[in-house]
Amino acid sequence: MAKKIVVLGAGESGVGAAVLALKEGYEVFVSDMSAIKPEYREELDCRKIDYEEGQHTESRILAADEVIKSPGIPNDAPIILKVRDRNIPVISEIEFAGRYSSSKMICITGSNGKTTTTSLIYHIFKMAGLDVGLAGNIGNSLALQVAEEPHDYYVIELSSFQLDNMYDFKADIAVLMNITPDHLDRYGYDMQNYVDAKMRVIRNQTQDDAFVFWNDDPIIQRELKKYGITARLYPFAEAKAAGLAAYVEDGEVCFTGKDSFNMEQESLALNGRHNLYNSMAAGISAKIAGIHNDTIRKALQTFKGVEHRLERVARVRGVDYINDSKATNVNSCWYALQSMPVKCVLILGGKDKGNDYSEIAELVREKCCGLVYMGLHNEKLHSFFDGFGLPVADVQSMKDAVDAASAMAENGQIVLLSPCCASFDLFKSYEDRGDQFKVCVRAL
Ligand code: ADP
Repeated sequence: MAKKIVVLGAGESGVGAAVLALKEGYEVFVSDMSAIKPEYREELDCRKIDYEEGQHTESRILAADEVIKSPGIPNDAPIILKVRDRNIPVISEIEFAGRYSSSKMICITGSNGKTTTTSLIYHIFKMAGLDVGLAGNIGNSLALQVAEEPHDYYVIELSSFQLDNMYDFKADIAVLMNITPDHLDRYGYDMQNYVDAKMRVIRNQTQDDAFVFWNDDPIIQRELKKYGITARLYPFAEAKAAGLAAYVEDGEVCFTGKDSFNMEQESLALNGRHNLYNSMAAGISAKIAGIHNDTIRKALQTFKGVEHRLERVARVRGVDYINDSKATNVNSCWYALQSMPVKCVLILGGKDKGNDYSEIAELVREKCCGLVYMGLHNEKLHSFFDGFGLPVADVQSMKDAVDAASAMAENGQIVLLSPCCASFDLFKSYEDRGDQFKVCVRAL
């Protein structure tokens, strides 16, 4: 009898997993507590995959031999607790897809910089003419590509939630950008649980594999000491030091090792210190894959950037408006503020994930000339920042936020949307928040 796979969550990853499971001869059932988006319903219908929406039928789910869980479903969701009670294994779509592919896997994780670095790596591999797919949190489902459009390489953005349910999967190149507090609400407010999830990116790696990481991250350093790491290490940092795979010296980014090369930091397409790290991580990964230095250099110089990440929107009456809606935690806002060349009005707020604003306190004093709190619950922002003596505004919509910020900003200054928070109190997603910002700015 065919083994039964139940897929929980019918989004990009769930539907892809269902398609692969069907192809591999499993009996498949997909269950989603919410309404399934029409395009995904169509994908299931046309392949005659059995599914339900708006409910979880326990009897069917608990009959599974294995459950593939969408990363959006928390590990302590009632249905998952019941599945675990029955000792039914729960895995992620990436874990499942990994079983059916022997392609090279380049996996990028970290609290910040994942999407940018993943996109950069993909851009370099594409420019090098390699057969590469983009997967994970970004792009199309890995499982779907493995099932229907296999590639030689996959560049995969991994969130901690995906890593949580990965066991036997192995990254040929693992990239860990940084670890700072995020999503603590899903990790029992225990930072170590979140750190442990991130470190799973190096699980199962051998001496034939590579681990690329930011050498100056204190948490990564602390964790490295705990693990008996066998993978080849490729640390990068800004200041030159022995053993680094990339660093900066006299305005040049130096990629070391066999076939070393330099490029001017100024010539990198992406600005800001954080993007220097992202560019170094991407360049090192491409070098490990054997891509020619000239291609890496050219690709790092021509990359167009990713929407909603320090995206310049417009200049209105001498004020520059920057959309950094993807800054959904405090650390990413820190990097945004740090890269501001002039005083800015900061729009922040939203759904707080257990934020500690002390990390940006000093930069707010140094770089900000006004603060706009945008959220349903702005009390925490008031109590933390009001004492700084800056003009503040309290708003509950993007239009009011942009109006308030434009009233505060003077000629030559910047209005920066870099919220430190998730968007779900007032918006559908961070993309929706960034899109609304752009519409309101363009209407000024
Ligand atoms: P992620 O996919 O991890 O959320 P993104 O590449 O989408 O990361 O960037 C999100 C935000 O984080 C950006 O808007 C930027 O302000 C900040 N950021 C980007 N790269 C880094 C980095 N290497 N370190 C810290 N912050 C970063």
